[in-house]
Amino acid sequence: MVKIVDKPEGYEGQGFFATQFDKIIGLARANSLWPLPFATSCCGIEFMSTMASTYDLARFGSERPSFSPRQADMLIVAGTIAKKMAPILKQVYQQMAEPRWVLSVGACASSGGIFDTYSVLQGIDRVIPVDVYVPGCPPRPEQILEGIMQLQELAKNESLRRRNSPEYKELLASYNIL
Ligand code: SF4
Repeated sequence: MVKIVDKPEGYEGQGFFATQFDKIIGLARANSLWPLPFATSCCGIEFMSTMASTYDLARFGSERPSFSPRQADMLIVAGTIAKKMAPILKQVYQQMAEPRWVLSVGACASSGGIFDTYSVLQGIDRVIPVDVYVPGCPPRPEQILEGIMQLQELAKNESLRRRNSPEYKELLASYNIL
């Protein structure tokens, strides 16, 4: 009779096969994040530089920007977001299929930045959930790349069950997103 002394990871609970499958899917997702640039002002220029040959975002599998929310999984918000624009941003996010991630680039997108005025949204996380914030006014392309690498880590390590979990549904419900 074989006696199991040290149980391998995933032997109980989640299941050995499911654990390995999570990792394969995570790796594929992390290295093929297709960006949807929602760029409104100066930070958008830095994103263009990040895409260009010197910084070469293609090295990270994200060389294909998509201007259709249906074919993007990484929403990159770069620039000042006016309150009048907020419903559009939310609609774009809602049109993206799961799994989707959001990168907030720069002070304006993350907190309104220097524009503490009646007309500017004081952070996009007031209307949609954000996964990674990149600080700076503007952030350098290296910082944007660092933010994308952080997103890759999130994608790589995300459980396949997360998007159906009550916690995730609760998060979306808190933003009034179905
Ligand atoms: Fe422009 Fe600075 Fe705002 Fe970026 S954070 S959009 S650089 S003002």
